[in-house]
Amino acid sequence: MRQESLRRRAPMRNDAPIVELLLLLLVAGGVAMGAADPDRAQLPLPRVIGLALLPALIVARSYANPSQAARRGHRAPMWVPALAVLAAVLVQAGGGPAGPLGVVAFLGIGAGSLNVGAKRVLPWAVVTVLAVAVPVVMGNAVGSLGSLIPWGFGVLLSAAIPGTALVSERHAHRRTQARLRTLEDEAGGLRHESSQVLPTLRDRNLDDETRERDLRSIARQLQQDIERAASMLVTTLGATTASIYRPDGDEFGDRLVLVAAAGDTRSLVDDVGTRDGLFGAAFKAMGPVCLKSPQPDDRRVVHRSTCQNLGSVLALPLLEGERRYGVMVLDAPVDMDLDGQPREFAGHLADFVTRLIARAVDLSAIREGMRENHAFYEACRAVSRHVRIDAIAQEVVHSAGRFVDLDRCALALADDLGATLRVVAHDGFGAPPPHAPFPIRAEEGLLAQAVRHRTAIDRPDLFSTARAPVLFGKAGGPARDLASLLVLPVYAPGGDHEDAPPPLGALLVARESAPDFSAEDNERLEVLLHQAGASISNGRLFAEHESRSITDGMTGLPNHRRFQEVMDEKLARCSRTGSKLSLLLMDIDKFKSVNDTYGHPMGDEVIRRLARVLAEAVRGGQDLAARYGGEEFVVVLEDADAGDALVLADRLRESFKDEQFVHMETDGARPLTFRCSMSVGIACYPDDASAKAELVDKADQALYLSKQRGRDRATCWETLRQANGSRGEARV
Ligand code: GH3
Ligand code: MG
Ligand code: MG
Repeated sequence: MRQESLRRRAPMRNDAPIVELLLLLLVAGGVAMGAADPDRAQLPLPRVIGLALLPALIVARSYANPSQAARRGHRAPMWVPALAVLAAVLVQAGGGPAGPLGVVAFLGIGAGSLNVGAKRVLPWAVVTVLAVAVPVVMGNAVGSLGSLIPWGFGVLLSAAIPGTALVSERHAHRRTQARLRTLEDEAGGLRHESSQVLPTLRDRNLDDETRERDLRSIARQLQQDIERAASMLVTTLGATTASIYRPDGDEFGDRLVLVAAAGDTRSLVDDVGTRDGLFGAAFKAMGPVCLKSPQPDDRRVVHRSTCQNLGSVLALPLLEGERRYGVMVLDAPVDMDLDGQPREFAGHLADFVTRLIARAVDLSAIREGMRENHAFYEACRAVSRHVRIDAIAQEVVHSAGRFVDLDRCALALADDLGATLRVVAHDGFGAPPPHAPFPIRAEEGLLAQAVRHRTAIDRPDLFSTARAPVLFGKAGGPARDLASLLVLPVYAPGGDHEDAPPPLGALLVARESAPDFSAEDNERLEVLLHQAGASISNGRLFAEHESRSITDGMTGLPNHRRFQEVMDEKLARCSRTGSKLSLLLMDIDKFKSVNDTYGHPMGDEVIRRLARVLAEAVRGGQDLAARYGGEEFVVVLEDADAGDALVLADRLRESFKDEQFVHMETDGARPLTFRCSMSVGIACYPDDASAKAELVDKADQALYLSKQRGRDRATCWETLRQANGSRGEARV
């Protein structure tokens, strides 16, 4: 690791061989005496070569073996003074400071300064200047004093400036490295923590709440680290603002939201489109994009509402392979350079933040999954809690929308014979689906087809064809404004194989826009419907049992128990509202003789026929006709006094009397026809009685009077009371 090698770097040591240095000083002294000046003695070329040989050899050796001599900052390399001395020799040989080789001194000393720093090069630069200047000043060498001074300055400056710049840059670099090390340590800790925590969360059988709490705390830590990275960018690099945008949730969508910012955050916008301006450009380039000196209204700057006084903007896409995790943006002041070291540092931080966001995205996917699972199990549980079919159907429709994203949902159930379907619950339809049942036939739409063929219908292409599909029977018309749909049959437990009874019904879910329902949606709905199928079957059994317990098997009318319940309810209501209620108690006249003459089956038929007459008379209203027991029946009339009841009683008696019974003799004789009559007793609440038992008793007394007075008539208790004079209470 790069930081590691920097950390272990040894302090700088000057271990240059002393002999080489002394020899170089000797050469420099020779130059100072004007030994390299071609005008001063004979054989100038061999002299110059002789003087240049040693420094040239040292430079050449360093060049040939750079690892030993020139490892940056590792030791003071010998080639630096050698190059300076060589430069001095050549400058003098070329005719002094202004001569053609004068510039060599700048280059040689500048290169040395850049590599090992000004502190080590400056002494050699002074040596070089003296070596060239002394002969000139002493008149031993050619060259003017006027050109010597600027040249000397130039050499000293080229020794001082690059090295000083290098040192300050190195300091900054070292600070950056230290920051990075801290970050890496933190990231290492975090990685360790997350990789430890996530598997344990998966493996351990924690309850939902604990799990959710743990995940929330990790998410909070991740968020804090992301924020720390943003503020580090501002404090370390001196950026105006650092902002980090990431997708909202676990999917990379069209927009990114601001999750952390540091520095001047005033004009930052909260969310940015992934294709907009610099963001889009950074994703396209798959690398940092820099914008220098943007105008205040530059449209590429999408993360700020205004970019007044902004020097430059650097947008770094947060990428891991092909996967996008967001964008980190650095706003720099006018005088700050965003290239080189700052960019490198920002790049490191971007990698770090990418890892944090990747972890946060994983976490939010896990949390989302947990939430969905929770909603799903809750839905299944809710469905299984109901026993009434309507409530089950409502719950299925309501629950489906809790864990599958949908716009419309409807559940249709088949009748007992499996001939028709009827929508029993629906949600999201502007115009509600038809209430009337529709036949389970091919042309009656998708629900009928799903039930008929025991198959799921998942055809997203249905809505792209010219003819919109029919859903709820022909009469319901075609469905429009939908983009995708799924129809699933609902089976009774164990009913999803070929030989099982037909499905109980079908569920339709639909969306008004993409995407299509996924395999996962399908699977979850199937599990919910599995539960719904069991609940509906139970519900049907329950309803059957319940109706059996309150219905008289022979006549189909409510039984005595039901009559008592209804009386309780109705009397309670009457006492609240102050309205009246009349009770008619009926008994077939001389019924024993019917049994005796025509047999019990005929007697049963008479009872059934009277039941039909009563049922027809009260059908559709709030009134109740029930079998009281044997050949006795009751009718309960709401909002009716004894007078109203008497009118109805007479009508019922007449209707019953109109019924003709035909008895076939077993020995082949002519069929016998006969008719029956009945007697009725009437009592009215609250006129005649203030409680249920009393009311029944008084109706019974009135009935008795009807019998006494010759049968085939109706009597009100009020009449009976009057017949008994002013005693107020009648006993017969
Ligand atoms: P009354 O005019 O006084 O009412 O004379 P009745 O013969 O009808 O006398 P009562 O009401 O006491 O007779 C009831 C008879 O009805 C007795 C019983 O055998 C008969 N019965 C009761 N329940 C049934 C039934 O479900 N089927 C048949 N066939 N007969 C029944
Ligand atoms: Mg009777
Ligand atoms: Mg009778």
